[in-house]
Amino acid sequence: MATWSNWSGSVDSKPARIERPKTYAELAGLVTSAKKVRVVGAGHSFMPLCETDGTLLSLSDLEGDITVDAATNRATAPAGCSLAKLTDILWKQGYSLINQGDVNPQALAGAIGTGTHGTGAKLGTLSTAARSFELMGPDGALMRASATENPDLFEAARLSLGLVGVATRIEIDVLPAYHLEERLEVYRLDEIAERWEQLAAENRHVEFFVFPYADLAMLKILHPKPFEGEMKEMRDMDDEAFRKVCEVCRRFPFMTSFLQKRLLPKEMMRRRIGPAYKIFPSERTVKFEEMEYELPRANGWPALREVIAWIRKNRLPVAFPFEFRIVASDDIWMSPFKGREGASISMHQYHRMKWREIFKEAEKIFQAHDGRPHWAKRHTLTTADVHRLYPDAVKFCAVRDRIDPQAKFANAHLTQLFGIKAS
Ligand SMILES: Cc1cc2nc3c(=O)[nH]c(=O)nc-3n(C[C@H](O)[C@H](O)[C@H](O)COP(=O)(O)OP(=O)(O)OC[C@H]3O[C@@H](n4cnc5c(N)ncnc54)[C@H](O)[C@@H]3O)c2cc1C
Repeated sequence: MATWSNWSGSVDSKPARIERPKTYAELAGLVTSAKKVRVVGAGHSFMPLCETDGTLLSLSDLEGDITVDAATNRATAPAGCSLAKLTDILWKQGYSLINQGDVNPQALAGAIGTGTHGTGAKLGTLSTAARSFELMGPDGALMRASATENPDLFEAARLSLGLVGVATRIEIDVLPAYHLEERLEVYRLDEIAERWEQLAAENRHVEFFVFPYADLAMLKILHPKPFEGEMKEMRDMDDEAFRKVCEVCRRFPFMTSFLQKRLLPKEMMRRRIGPAYKIFPSERTVKFEEMEYELPRANGWPALREVIAWIRKNRLPVAFPFEFRIVASDDIWMSPFKGREGASISMHQYHRMKWREIFKEAEKIFQAHDGRPHWAKRHTLTTADVHRLYPDAVKFCAVRDRIDPQAKFANAHLTQLFGIKAS
């Protein structure tokens, strides 16, 4: 028996075996011979999506090239390829991803399989960039899915949590390579609120980080700009100093408010320009646990105000900042952004501090504002909640039942979440 844990350390699993197949034949052998299979990307999900007592597969070494069709601006890549590797190779071929999130170790299939997103009023999640999938079914046979070939399977695979087969290759929309200007600026939260709609309309990417006890927030703007020369290596946070602050908050929770009010400088203006794939990701070395709710865009600010007021009123020790982003609406069955433009609020807690009870209470606020959770981040949805929030869950479950009637690709968490019954 092997051991595996996720990035934050909150999910520990004891799979019967962990395998890294290099060839399709090896992969098919592993899939057909196992009773239970889960695939792991970079293990960056906070929910127990990759937990299994069966076979845990990593596709990071699976054969396959990254190719781009210049006529359609579409790239096809091995599903287990990390976003870091993919974006580096794409850049060398003259392409960039349309958008990226905060970090880049995720596997392409892991990011697409959970609806991973960045920020931008007109930009959807990474799942919205997927154009076709090559998937391996429980019998080891390969299936292809696109809008025209197996369209139902395609719709399910666009955000599948790994429930409709092992993704082996994925075709995605890309853009000709571009540079981004990054601006980090500190303002009063109220000032950002006043200017928010204008900021969102004028900049391709806009977001901010705000500590619950601080009145200042760090605004982060990314916008395409011509390259000026050398790119400055720069981080959005000083991780070492922040780790020390988190440790003080852990040992002396009553200090959280005092420290957070002093964390951001009153004035800050930093600017740099670089290749998009280098500007998008940050390094996150201070571990945290995270819950994220996607709300109808108009509900974002009221929900943020309410959750901050609740933390302050109850003097709760929440060491990390909230992250506030915006995401375009989409048409994906299981996407939290289906049919509505979203405001995305991420609530983090230092991994060595209590998070479960605080998240559970805060979740009620986000749900009261019509929120749907990020599938990879902490939530407590039941099967009934899933069907209430996602009318298309019925179609998703029907595809899952057809592709994997024995529920080989399910685990305890997903079985409970979707009410899966093996036939
Ligand atoms: C530090 C950090 C920063 C983050 N930043 C963001 C962010 O900015 N925006 C955002 O939206 N999310 C963010 N996340 C969440 C993260 O993007 C998601 O959890 C994502 O799924 C992680 O990708 P992964 O490769 O680690 O997937 P894993 O967690 O390993 O797996 C996720 C799901 O994908 C499935 N899967 C993986 N590979 C395959 C495959 N080949 N075939 C079928 N199914 C597969 C798994 O079975 C599982 O269900 C962040 C997480 C961390 C820890």
